[in-house]
Amino acid sequence: EAFEGDQSGDPQPRQTPGVLYSRILPSPVNQPKLLAWTTDLAAELGIQEPDENDLSILGGNTVNPTMKPYAACYAGHQFGNWAGQLGDGRAITLGEWPLPNGKSWELQLKGAGPTPYSRRADGRAVLRSSVREYLMSEAMYHLGVPTTRALSLVATGDQVRRDMFYDGRPALEPGAIVMRAAPSFLRFGNFEMLSARKEYENLQKLVDWTIEKFFPELTGPDKTLQWFKKVMESTATMVVEWLRVGFVHGVMNTDNMSILGLTIDYGPFSFLDAYDLNFSPNTTDHPGLRYAYGKQHSVAYWNLSCLANAISPLFEDPKELISTVESFGPVFYEKFYSMKAAKMGLDELGNGDVGLVDDLENLLAEIQPDMTIFYQLLSDLPEELSDIEAINRHFKPSFYHNLSEIQLELLRKNMTTYQERLSKNTITRTASRSKMKANNPRFILRNYLLYEAIQDLEKGEDQLFRKLQKALETPYSKEHDEFFALRPQWANEQPGSATLSCSS
Ligand code: AMP
Ligand code: MG
Ligand code: MG
Repeated sequence: EAFEGDQSGDPQPRQTPGVLYSRILPSPVNQPKLLAWTTDLAAELGIQEPDENDLSILGGNTVNPTMKPYAACYAGHQFGNWAGQLGDGRAITLGEWPLPNGKSWELQLKGAGPTPYSRRADGRAVLRSSVREYLMSEAMYHLGVPTTRALSLVATGDQVRRDMFYDGRPALEPGAIVMRAAPSFLRFGNFEMLSARKEYENLQKLVDWTIEKFFPELTGPDKTLQWFKKVMESTATMVVEWLRVGFVHGVMNTDNMSILGLTIDYGPFSFLDAYDLNFSPNTTDHPGLRYAYGKQHSVAYWNLSCLANAISPLFEDPKELISTVESFGPVFYEKFYSMKAAKMGLDELGNGDVGLVDDLENLLAEIQPDMTIFYQLLSDLPEELSDIEAINRHFKPSFYHNLSEIQLELLRKNMTTYQERLSKNTITRTASRSKMKANNPRFILRNYLLYEAIQDLEKGEDQLFRKLQKALETPYSKEHDEFFALRPQWANEQPGSATLSCSS
């Protein structure tokens, strides 16, 4: 309500100059059916288990009088190009949910029908992509990665037309709606939109509002600069966390970059199976030219430059803004190496440890073991293991192929240096191990598992879905070792189980 919005309620796709959002109602669906409900988030927000009326809200069929549904207007750079106005094309915020502590959460339906920002698309989401977003955002939350959440997953009872055979699937698919929750869904693209339209007054207003609401500790005359610095730091942290757990976002366009450093807009994402820095799950981005696992920090930097560029008209002299963008590298690498040190069980990142981390990185890139399994085995490495055959046997469960003589020798040398470093730790081996256990997930929501769960759900079977929903709550434990395995061979060839397209 702090901002000018288009009040017409008209979903007709159009450009909306001068406007920061459009009032829009969700379009009704045929038969909402609750597929999943996130009990711990609901408890945190003080929301009760949904009854029939609530289900009707979650499916977009009912809007309570206290709700003021709207779609936000934003723009973005997609795949390196300016894309102009985009906006919430299929996401409708129902309102802000106030918490007793004075904070609030934005509750948003994704897939609730057309908005002025739908362009030529239908404003809907298919079950497949909704299941992926629902499970994955919750998985990331339990991994400790900054992320938006998902409160509910509802099947709509409608069929959604996808006019191409995406991932080899039929044109008609079951529809679904996820209720997403986050303190805010503001993106870099909201700021870019206003700047592109040269609406600098609105831009200033949005920046001031954002600072006041989410960064109230910033009050000085240089608060805009300090705010940008915070955005830069939280973005760096987010990417470091992705790299820690092996997450590839897949569509790091600036419209998908949260101003709060949250993982947002789950689309063609994936965890790494084999440690391949060039892996991108997004078939639109093949062969991982832009949004691959190992390129995510440089894209984050590029995206931050876009944001800095957008807010630069608010600065008399952009010199410090530019130097803040330029400081991304050092900020990122400091976080990155500390994260790696924790994964390796080092007491601290000491002199020479950067080289040790780099050596392990190079080794992993060379032998491409399963990332998750490898780090689990690393944390169980016996103290006096130096024999090449024994080392090979120890790590073998993480290999997708047999190692060559040269690779084996590389592994042996690496492990010898690593053991030497561990012996110099000022913490006990037990403490080092528990550090590793806390930083290396044992259960990850692999793409092929999601694929299987979705196949089952489409047939009305939810056993695997439920199992995954449970497993993702304790990703660092051994409780779910039935999923502790290499990606099976079949998943390499099956479209949708390893890679995905953008559109869903
Ligand atoms: P994404 O690549 O998923 O972040 O989407 C980019 C833009 O396309 C955003 O503005 C989305 O709201 C919009 N969009 C994606 N899918 C749909 C859809 N099915 N209907 C309407 N808009 C969509
Ligand atoms: Mg998006
Ligand atoms: Mg999306």
